[in-house]
Amino acid sequence: MIPALGLFGGTFDPIHWGHIRTAQALRSELSLQEIRFIVSARPPHRAAPHASAEQRLAMAELALADQPGLIADARELTRPGPSYTLWTLRALRAEFGSQSLLWIVGADTVPELASWFQWTALLSFSHWVVLPRPGSPTELPELLKEYLVDDPGRLHDRAAGLIYIATTPEIQVSASEIRARLQRRQNVDMDIPEPVLNYIEHNGLYQDHEKQRGLHAV
Ligand code: ATP
Repeated sequence: MIPALGLFGGTFDPIHWGHIRTAQALRSELSLQEIRFIVSARPPHRAAPHASAEQRLAMAELALADQPGLIADARELTRPGPSYTLWTLRALRAEFGSQSLLWIVGADTVPELASWFQWTALLSFSHWVVLPRPGSPTELPELLKEYLVDDPGRLHDRAAGLIYIATTPEIQVSASEIRARLQRRQNVDMDIPEPVLNYIEHNGLYQDHEKQRGLHAV
């Protein structure tokens, strides 16, 4: 059996230890060989990111260079138009055939899941795995409860269609908090890998939110 492939989508503006440590914990919990960090080039449902897609991808590549099994994935940067998850998953499903695909989201996304564009189609292309996050309940909307499984082994038995709530540790860090701290010239050493911090400093990122948005929005 081909092992399940983890897919972790996000703006990663910037990537931080909350993303990396929970992804590594999930890799162990589900015995995954690989989790791809899919950098959202033009997220359709939120304000434009502060750093450009190329900069966010570069930071993900730096952060994951020494992380076994975690890989930065550039596919959304090469596709024009909004970065709809549905389109990404459809392309991945075409590429990976009947392999089990796990679309990984933080618990803060749970209340939105059932309101996503064509969520039933999303679930037909992949499983969903929810990462616990401080302050965000993992209780699923009523509509989705029938897809919930407690046994993670079932995610490997079929290609798509199930929802699993991971037991990974809750890590209190968010990109918005990091950006705010950087803007106030506060220390973020504990929140992001050193090469990412060096990149941010070298490129003068997140010093002035409005300026960054104007200069780098794609
Ligand atoms: P922001 O604060 O700007 O919303 P973020 O820290 O949530 O950013 P994103 O790039 O938007 O980072 O997140 C990508 C994915 O990672 C989302 O599914 C999000 O829920 C999840 N995530 C982010 N931080 C954590 C964390 N500390 N623990 C678990 N999941 C997380």
